[in-house]
Amino acid sequence: MLSDAELLRYSRHILLQGIDIEGQLRLKNARVLIVGLGGLGSPVALYLAAAGIGELHLADFDAVDSSNLQRQILHDTPSEGMAKTASALARLQALNPLIRLTAHTTQLDTDSLQQRVQGMDLVLDCTDNFLIRDQINAACLRHGVPWISGAAIRLQGQVTLYDPRQPHSPCYRCLFGSGEDAGSGCNESGVLGPLVGVIGSLQAAEAIKLLTGFGSSLLGRLVLVDLHDSRFRELRIPRDPQCSACGG
Ligand SMILES: [Zn+2]
Repeated sequence: MLSDAELLRYSRHILLQGIDIEGQLRLKNARVLIVGLGGLGSPVALYLAAAGIGELHLADFDAVDSSNLQRQILHDTPSEGMAKTASALARLQALNPLIRLTAHTTQLDTDSLQQRVQGMDLVLDCTDNFLIRDQINAACLRHGVPWISGAAIRLQGQVTLYDPRQPHSPCYRCLFGSGEDAGSGCNESGVLGPLVGVIGSLQAAEAIKLLTGFGSSLLGRLVLVDLHDSRFRELRIPRDPQCSACGG
């Protein structure tokens, strides 16, 4: 059931044919893990909290630094030096007191990721790190949990959905193999602030669609965004039958 306060708060979503009251109830009953509360995690966490995801789990081990504030709009100047989870909890609770928030502040390793992912309806990868993505991939494959991955650097970004419940879904390793991270992070290369807003907002939209069950998903499609020339394009990404993570 939705309370009067919830019906009012979420009315602009409930008005959408794809969501309606039934979809809003699905959002209310959903458990979602957001890994990373930086540039991508900021819009993801804000939009998913605002949308009334019933249970949001927030994972980050970092603290807010002034160099984050050019793009990480979840945090603000008074929260400099605070744990990002603490800063995020305060902001998201103020945004929507009707949802339950849980923070995980320790650095995630293979074992703790398995524990965090188990029982989730969806995971949002908002990290900037190949190794953690590979671990999220393994945990989500093991527990049959879909996950939406975003990445952004300089003026280019990408987003896709992996869903181990679907037999034809590729996994992260089908695409990127198991090699070491070749690319540099935004610490060295820079990133345009609004780019993480674009990619994170695409992730949040995809999350709401997946949880409520409307529209065409990004399954098997990698959307590439280039803000230098303001272009979107997409690549088909097939499952690799020889994949070392999901093959055989
Ligand atoms: Zn695979």
